[in-house]
Amino acid sequence: MAVPFLDLKAQYETIRDEVLSAIHTTLDRTSYILGPDVTDFENRFAAYCGARFGIGVNSGTSALQLALLAMGVGPGDEVILPPNTFIATAEAVSMTGARPVLVDIDPATFHLDLGRVEKAITPKTKAIIPVHLYGLPVDMPPLMELARAHGLKVIEDACQAHGAELGGRKTGSLGDAACFSFYPSKNLGAFGEGGLVVTSDEKVAAAVRALRDHGQTAKSDHRMIGYNARMEGIQGAVLGVKLNRLDGWNESRRQIAVLYDRLLSGTAVHSPMEPEGRRHVYHLYVVRLKNRDKMIKCLADRGIGTAIHYPVPIHLQEAYRFLGYRPGDFPEAEAAAGEILSLPMFPEMTEAMVNETAEGLREGLR
Ligand SMILES: *Cc1c(COP(=O)(O)O)cnc(C)c1O
Repeated sequence: MAVPFLDLKAQYETIRDEVLSAIHTTLDRTSYILGPDVTDFENRFAAYCGARFGIGVNSGTSALQLALLAMGVGPGDEVILPPNTFIATAEAVSMTGARPVLVDIDPATFHLDLGRVEKAITPKTKAIIPVHLYGLPVDMPPLMELARAHGLKVIEDACQAHGAELGGRKTGSLGDAACFSFYPSKNLGAFGEGGLVVTSDEKVAAAVRALRDHGQTAKSDHRMIGYNARMEGIQGAVLGVKLNRLDGWNESRRQIAVLYDRLLSGTAVHSPMEPEGRRHVYHLYVVRLKNRDKMIKCLADRGIGTAIHYPVPIHLQEAYRFLGYRPGDFPEAEAAAGEILSLPMFPEMTEAMVNETAEGLREGLR
């Protein structure tokens, strides 16, 4: 049995009629950009997260960039983030003119190490971007306390964590603002590009709203130089339909994770952890093991798809050489990059597929 890493078609088939009808309504209204479907989705998604405002944009990357700009981050500023994230987290900082400052991770959670964050704060530091990597929320309360003590803003990179919870509160309500991506493979995916900023700060919301639309605060009233980063009407319609299913899909992911956990326990393949009080939504099910590259080949020979998120930490990417970091600067992130493996994970995955993947891993270990 072949097991794909991801199967978007399987999900499409379960929502086809409903989503096509929603798209037709949008097209009949010719509300191609922003419009009622986007507004409705923005409001419902913000409420879902427990935040006051939602501003739809054209990608998660734009969401991060505009949230930083809205908080006044710019040239001469520093923003702290982990080295083991999708490069967009760092790019968003760079696009504001600020400097990404990387801080090594806690290998247990793959999240920013709080003790190291404190040591990296300088007079230039303006903000921290904790990444809820793989769908596990960062332990936000101590981070917020540290940020408050130093007058720093905190922007959650929640691009992998739609619906994840900490102490009963959803990602999107834990920092000063949060950024989501609706890239098709994410837990909540558009039919194309999409992203959203949620915040309960009225000023930040107003600034992001203006920045996404050429700096307009009212028709032809441009108070700042902005961007074209608006969400498309069709994406709002698709996301509105899919939001109703998000909790169910996340629950399926969690059940698949429980099964993986059980099948892999006692082996040399280490399952992800879910600390007390946190609800992981398993955007990715990432295990850690020695001889990872041999395992990938062994699984591929059996028809099992895998991926690595991410094989090269940001400080070792050519594009970020100018920051002046060197191999060895972030030993935990670098060690993790060599041993992590993302297993097949999508809500429609069958129990037989999980069994097959676990069997493939056991064979690989032998
Ligand atoms: C997907 C992702 C982004 C970027 O989102 P896009 O919609 O692809 O621009 C940023 N950060 C993380 C952690 C992501 O996974």
